[in-house]
Amino acid sequence: MEISLDEFEFEVERVVLEQGLRYYIEGHVGSMIELGNGKYRAFLKDSDRYVVNLTIRNGMVENYSCECQNNQGSICQHVVATLFNMRKDFQDLIFAPETNNTIDEIESQPKKSSVVDEVDEILISLKENELKDFIRQTCSNDREFRFRFLTIFANINAPASSAKASYIKQIQHLIVVYSGRHGYIGYREAKEFGEAILEILDTARTNIEKRNNNKALAIIFAVLEEVTPVLNSADDSNGYIGGCIEEAVDLINELVETEIDESLRSEIFNLLMDTFESGKLHGWDWHFDLISLAIQLLRNSQEKQRIQTIVTSIKPTGESYDWDYRKAQELMHELLLRTENEEAVTQYLKENVSNPDFRERLIKQAIKANDYKYALELANDGIAKDEANDYIGLANKWREYQLDIYQKLGDDDNIIRLARYFVIKGSSAPESLKDYYNLLKKTISADLWSEYLEKMIVELLRKEKGTAYDKLVSFFVWEEYWDRYLILLQKNVTLSRIEAAEKYLTSLYTDQLISLYDLEIRFYIEKNVGRSYYIDACRYIKRMRNLGDIKTVDKLIGEMRNQYKNRRALLEELTKL
Ligand SMILES: [Zn+2]
Repeated sequence: MEISLDEFEFEVERVVLEQGLRYYIEGHVGSMIELGNGKYRAFLKDSDRYVVNLTIRNGMVENYSCECQNNQGSICQHVVATLFNMRKDFQDLIFAPETNNTIDEIESQPKKSSVVDEVDEILISLKENELKDFIRQTCSNDREFRFRFLTIFANINAPASSAKASYIKQIQHLIVVYSGRHGYIGYREAKEFGEAILEILDTARTNIEKRNNNKALAIIFAVLEEVTPVLNSADDSNGYIGGCIEEAVDLINELVETEIDESLRSEIFNLLMDTFESGKLHGWDWHFDLISLAIQLLRNSQEKQRIQTIVTSIKPTGESYDWDYRKAQELMHELLLRTENEEAVTQYLKENVSNPDFRERLIKQAIKANDYKYALELANDGIAKDEANDYIGLANKWREYQLDIYQKLGDDDNIIRLARYFVIKGSSAPESLKDYYNLLKKTISADLWSEYLEKMIVELLRKEKGTAYDKLVSFFVWEEYWDRYLILLQKNVTLSRIEAAEKYLTSLYTDQLISLYDLEIRFYIEKNVGRSYYIDACRYIKRMRNLGDIKTVDKLIGEMRNQYKNRRALLEELTKL
């Protein structure tokens, strides 16, 4: 409901209005901040310390909320008190004593629709010294105003070094404003906080455009250092806060990629390294992005040494997935790529081949250089090591590379060996199974194929019971062995398997499918009690009916009604059929 700020008394219940007014007169409305875009936040000074949020545009209260639980959407005394305070604030602004000479004018004019218009009008007629007097006085009386004034204007002529401190202060203030009582930024506040930080970053962008690079850097690094730790105590599930860090890193990236002079280059380099060393971003990818950017900027051996020292200080922990160490290896690789020749880089990769990314890189390099022998060796080594560690996914990745190489070499024996491995051991999803199956079929001579297939079927049934059914179904469909499909289904029947078989077997084996359904539905109902099972069973009865044998279906329904007289939910579901 929209309420007019000037006339809210007429729209609020009398009891609440009186409570709110008393609350306001007793001075319980504490500091208020303007969040921009018509949004205000008031902090109440009673024992509950509620926070009230308001959106006021063009003199209309478009939105209000209060932390107290007793208002379910209706206005509460806290909001009313805040509105009284708000209106007084607006009036104070208009009738401020410093603007004596314009009061008459304003009072004699008809009321403007918007407070902003009125402010503008006053500002136009104000003399500069009057405005300064007003600001001076307000700064000394109003802590909140003084803070905003200082953060916005204090660094106008300040050197970049103090600009950063003042942005840090500004951000820390925002953190306090958006944090709840337990120092945690909630889901909604995370969005608002993120938006406020993005505004600050916009200033950085403007400064880059104006070539005020030092100021821009002050802002960017203030955001990186102060905002990243906030992620540990915020609900940023929508990524508003993370997005700000991303944006800050992007801005550095943009700067790094433009032509910058030596002093700026070395300044950015040092900022990046200092921030990394401060550890404030540790635990996030951005922590390592800093080094990555520094590597792009480095220009002399001292700087290289500094990076090298940092990167080599990150030691393996022995954990099965050692994130930091993997990152450190990646960075060292980047550093060598920038500063050393190809042999040195390859040497590093070989020395650290236990890193799967490096192994893959070496394999690709070897394949590209037609050094298949070395590529196969690397893959073999990887299979042995990763299988020993139970990293089946990785081991299979190396097998994929081998299969690829053997195809290039036309080595049929090894193609068959590996394709067979993937058919028997790999996924049973038809999409991935099909490629290996076809490769196998293509490589084995046609007159030997059916014998070969039978051997695989036996092996599957013996060793891979879990996935055998699905794989065999795929084989039988591809080979169009419909009779064998039916037998397999009959021996391993479930309702969902009958449903999946309809597509292939209906035209040849309608009666068999119907009697399978008939048996399985009876079994299913006998075994399971509960409405969700009955709904499921009825879905299969419908499918059964669609196969065309109405008589069998009616018989089934009739017998179930009889047999399960006490299952009311079942009877209800059967009636819906
Ligand atoms: Zn309230």
